[in-house]
Amino acid sequence: MDKPNGFSRRAFFGFMTAAPLAAASISDPRPLIPDPRPLTPDSPETILLKDYRPRSLHKVPETQITKAKFPIIDMHSHDYAKTDADVAEWVRTMDEVGVERTVILCGNTGAEFDAVYDKYMKHPKRFEMWCGFNYTGFDQPGYGPAAVRELERCHQKGAKGVGELGDKGKCGALKARAALCIPTIPAWIRCLRNAPSSACR
Ligand SMILES: [Zn+2]
Repeated sequence: MDKPNGFSRRAFFGFMTAAPLAAASISDPRPLIPDPRPLTPDSPETILLKDYRPRSLHKVPETQITKAKFPIIDMHSHDYAKTDADVAEWVRTMDEVGVERTVILCGNTGAEFDAVYDKYMKHPKRFEMWCGFNYTGFDQPGYGPAAVRELERCHQKGAKGVGELGDKGKCGALKARAALCIPTIPAWIRCLRNAPSSACR
């Protein structure tokens, strides 16, 4: 290509290089020179994220769902209510949003489990209680039978499952590993035998 359409080779390649830049400057409305005007409180640049309240341009129907269409079972909650009044308030909220029953995974054993159980069982049809696993002495020889006995006692009291057995950075992993090892297998067998399927969490 020597002289396309009368251009010299140099002029042609110069044109080809400059063309995209020219096109970009035409389509891009941003000024090449910064706006010299001082910022005011109304300038877009001064709006903080916390004050940004754009109004939607969409005109579509909005659906506010305040209650479930069908009764809900909340399968995973915890002992958040401190008092009987808190439990009653919880039940009112459940009625409001359509939750028929809530499963409380308190994770407690012994007297603590009994206290939590009694607190919620003033509404026996609205809550289901799961107990914990007694890790006391997990690192001692002979660990296991006492944990089994406590599991059975909680079940007789009314526990419907075992949970929540978690770690969450509280150094429980060691306990959990110990509890799941051979000495406690009978406890887990009893647990699964006594409780409905999938009632260990
Ligand atoms: Zn949980």
